[in-house]
Amino acid sequence: MQKIKDLINNPRNLKVISAILVIVCLVSVASSYGNGSTISKLKETTNLNDSKIAELEDTIENLNTETSELEVRNKDKKTQIDQLQADAKEFGDLESQVEELQEKNNALQADLDSLKASNEAAAHEAATQATSAESSTASTEVSSSSGSSSGGGEVCITQTGAKYHHSSCSTLSRSKNLRYMSTSEAKAAGYEACKVCNP
Ligand SMILES: [Zn+2]
Repeated sequence: MQKIKDLINNPRNLKVISAILVIVCLVSVASSYGNGSTISKLKETTNLNDSKIAELEDTIENLNTETSELEVRNKDKKTQIDQLQADAKEFGDLESQVEELQEKNNALQADLDSLKASNEAAAHEAATQATSAESSTASTEVSSSSGSSSGGGEVCITQTGAKYHHSSCSTLSRSKNLRYMSTSEAKAAGYEACKVCNP
């Protein structure tokens, strides 16, 4: 204590002490001012942060809304895709049905062609038969005019041959002056059946 009293009583020391006190005061004022500005700056920053947080929260909410909207759209698209896939499958089924029907159609066309061919053959045969019927009618007329029409089918014989034939027999193509009679008459006259036309 004595030392402090000595220091205070010394006017030169008193100047130094008061200068130190002034410095201390200045420093403390400066530091409190600095603290105050720091606090207000921190408060400002906090306010800024709060407003930024609010902004971000808004943004997040908007994004959530967009996300749920997109999810709904996505669901719609998925439904559409499912529908399209079902359609595609159905189309595939239809295609295979079309192929099947085309095969059936081709088979039926082939049947139709063969039927047409056989029909033409039948028509040709009918025409041939009609011609031979005409010629046999002519034969009948000839034989009936000759007055020999008793028993069995009509056959014909050549001037020199030992066989009796159908009038259409191929062996008769060059023969002339054919005689017509019934099969029984030909047999009775000693003629034998031709082995070519087999009457
Ligand atoms: Zn013959």
